[in-house]
Amino acid sequence: MHIRDFELDDLPRADKRSHWLAIAARDGGGYWRLPLLTDIGAEDGPTLLTIAGVHGDEYEGIAAIPQVFRAIEPRALRGRLVMAPICNIPAFDAARRGSPIDGHNLARVFPGDINGEITEQIVAWLCRKLLPQADFLIDLHTGGLACELPLLIGYIHDDGDLGQASLAAAEAFGAPVMWGHPLPLRSWPRVSAGDGIAHITQFAQPR
Ligand SMILES: [Zn+2]
Repeated sequence: MHIRDFELDDLPRADKRSHWLAIAARDGGGYWRLPLLTDIGAEDGPTLLTIAGVHGDEYEGIAAIPQVFRAIEPRALRGRLVMAPICNIPAFDAARRGSPIDGHNLARVFPGDINGEITEQIVAWLCRKLLPQADFLIDLHTGGLACELPLLIGYIHDDGDLGQASLAAAEAFGAPVMWGHPLPLRSWPRVSAGDGIAHITQFAQPR
């Protein structure tokens, strides 16, 4: 299925499944496919979107998402858990931070372009199909192959509702380092800038 035809609202309740959604055409035929894991609770509730692999060499979030997916029991869930473990599929395929095809840093091309280069197409579809469904977004990053980072969490530092929701989630996560970003968000984290979605960005590095 192409992601244009994917509708989260069409999935049944108390349902857990994995999807491979065609998202951008590959040179030589076929598509780059976005893996997506959905847990739809038995009861209505908020939607948590979690993404990883925005940078293709940051593996901890990519590995953590399937573990959470296996542990969740949708019949005991209120709301929806939607997880995209590898957003930057061409970069992951090449074990690189950015795309080897168009050179873009996926985190810097929001809101993307449906007719643009591959990274811009991926972002445009994320913005059209997943972000509007989310009440809250968690964006998982790490130091990748190049850096070593402390465990830290970035959040929106603001007195408004968005900032307070982001702060509460950051505190609940319990990371030893918190990194507040005042509005308007200018560079990182751009994933939900301007979308009105409270979010946190977790950076982690294995010991
Ligand atoms: Zn990253």
